Amino acid sequence: MFQSIKRYIFNILHPVIAEVWQLHRITRENSADDIDRPYEITLERLDNLLKNALQNHYTFCSLDDITSMLTLHGQNTEYNTPQKIDLPHRRKLICLTLDDGYEDNFINAMPLFRKYKAPFCIYITKDYIEQGYKNYSFLNINQLLTLSADPLCTLGCHTCSHPRLNSLSIEEQQTEIADCKLWLEQTLGKPVKHLAYPYGDFSADTIHLVQALGFKTAVAAWGGGLRKGVAYSPFAIPRLLVTQNDIK
Ligand SMILES: [Zn+2]
Repeated sequence: MFQSIKRYIFNILHPVIAEVWQLHRITRENSADDIDRPYEITLERLDNLLKNALQNHYTFCSLDDITSMLTLHGQNTEYNTPQKIDLPHRRKLICLTLDDGYEDNFINAMPLFRKYKAPFCIYITKDYIEQGYKNYSFLNINQLLTLSADPLCTLGCHTCSHPRLNSLSIEEQQTEIADCKLWLEQTLGKPVKHLAYPYGDFSADTIHLVQALGFKTAVAAWGGGLRKGVAYSPFAIPRLLVTQNDIK
């Protein structure tokens, strides 16, 4: 009882003012079964979510906007210092991110994001682009270059082989992250400043490494929305997983 009152007061004092959504595959057709697939939603659902967000007074924002929020009110500009956040303007924010680098992000989702003028970030797994994974189709280099030229799109790293980073040595983590960053920067011909941890797994060592490699942000795969007056590290930004039936 006491805990629920505490939570109630906390929620009033610290309302959610921004959400970073985590998406994966965006499909034309619903899957044949009724199982809620966490890594796949239909284009129709995404369209409805974006439409509802606008009706509910959300504004779509980029990862750089989230970075600005995290550093706007802090005295300390060290990126790894958690920064309390507040809204730069009145409307609540949604930042759209997509993990792994599926081709349907380009074919299905990009036209929809353009329709809503919604910025989006795709986190690229190097080995999936170069070697594939299971039966999925991934972005090719031409699609990556087209996305890179789109002002709405940010391309970020998602490591080389999609490991659980906190199960690796620091040297192995460095190879996974730095090689992906270098490859993507050479492919695109521009700096890459954003990272998503595969499975949302990382350690304190990972955060130091990511900062030393020159990233501006790194996102987790859990943690809910960003709340007013609560401090967050730019290298552990929480996200909400969007599935066919839920946002959690
Ligand atoms: Zn992933």
